[in-house]
Parts: sequence; structure tokens; C-alpha cells
Amino acid sequence: TSKNVTMRTAMARFPFVKPLETFDFGYQPSIDRKQVQMLASCHFIEHGDNVLVLGPPGVGKTHLAVALGLKAIEAGYRVLFSTAAHLIATLTKAHAEGRLDEKLKLYTTPRLLIIDEIGYLSYDARAADLLFQVVSRRYERKSLVLTTNLPFSEWPTIFPNAATATALIDRLVHHAEILTIDGDSYRRRVAEAKRKPSRPASDS
Ligand code: ADP
Ligand code: MG
Repeated sequence: TSKNVTMRTAMARFPFVKPLETFDFGYQPSIDRKQVQMLASCHFIEHGDNVLVLGPPGVGKTHLAVALGLKAIEAGYRVLFSTAAHLIATLTKAHAEGRLDEKLKLYTTPRLLIIDEIGYLSYDARAADLLFQVVSRRYERKSLVLTTNLPFSEWPTIFPNAATATALIDRLVHHAEILTIDGDSYRRRVAEAKRKPSRPASDS
């Protein structure tokens, strides 16, 4: 029911609610529109596959992740959104309080977990282990949508050791759809359009 959709949308804790229909594919030609439309059908969730969204800041990674989350909610799934930093802070606190197993359920229960902004911070051994636990508990059963600004080749630089980065990447990319965006920041375009009101913004 629509009441259920409203409730699950609130429970998902999105940073903003922007459906796929508000995404301007014309601005981001590097995105394979067909691939996104396929993902919007949510078959990947039935199979427990992952979606990795890669690209520099401002290109719409979070927007697309939220949009896919909203499609999943419409399809009847429970979804949770968290930044990597928030997830790690929450689990670190739970670990210190002896409630880690209980808190891990928060991140393993939803059929779709969105982890936003992996790679903006580097992780110590404890943080990397907590992230790894979430990923491996969901592995091959429940889908993740993950966004990152870091190409995989640079992941070893944010993890305490190369083995951890490799183990994590292995589980993430096995059965994963990878969406690479390499265009200009949409934020910057909006900011520039505001700064130069006399000159009409040109897309070309
Ligand atoms: P990222 O997560 O890659 O840093 P965001 O998804 O947060 O970028 O996008 C930055 C802002 O620009 C958001 O308000 C988002 O809704 C908007 N935005 C980005 N790309 C597009 C697009 N192609 N069409 C419409 N809005 C966009
Ligand atoms: Mg973002």
C-alpha cells in the first residue's frame, strides 16, 4: 500500500528523496541509461547481487543510489541508507558497549543496504573489520548498493592492509553490476549557473 511505501521510505533514512525520474541523464552521458533502467527493475535484489557506483564528487552517485532505493521500496523491499562513516561510527560504538551482534542486525536485515561514500575517509583495522563483517554477512544473499569516489586500484590506500582491501573488493564485485560515472560535477554546474546570472548556462 502507499502507506507502507511512505513508512518504508522514512525507515530508509535517505539524505534526500529524489526519484530516478528526476535524474537528468542528458547531463551525464557516461552513464549507461539502459543499465540503470535494468537495475531499476530490482532483479538484482532478488539475486542478492550488488551495485557499485563509481565516480568523482558531484556526479550523482548518491542521487542514483537513493533513486534505486526508492525503486526497491516500491517493489516491496526494506531498504536502509547509511554513509560508510555513519555505519562504522555506529558499529564502533556498539562494539565498545558489547552490543555489536545486536547492532549488526540493523545492517544485515534490510534486503537492500546502501553504503554511501566509501573512500572519503581511510579506515583503521577495527573500522575495516566492521565494514568487512557487514559485507560478508550479506554476501550472496542480500544486495548492497555502494558508492565510492575511489577506483578499486586505490582502495589499498584507505585500508590498513592490502589483504583487507582485496578481500572486501572480491566480495563486493563478485555478482556485481558496476556503474561508472566520469563526467562533470552537477553541483558545480548549479553553482556556476547561479554565479553568472547574466550569461545563460550552456551545456555544450
Ligand atoms: P555525488 O554523490 O556523486 O557526490 P550527488 O548525487 O550528491 O553527487 O549529486 C549532487 C547534487 O546534484 C544532488 O542534489 C543531486 O540530486 C544533483 N544531481 C547530480 N547529478 C544529477 C543529474 N544528472 N540530474 C539531476 N540532478 C543531479
Ligand atoms: Mg554523494
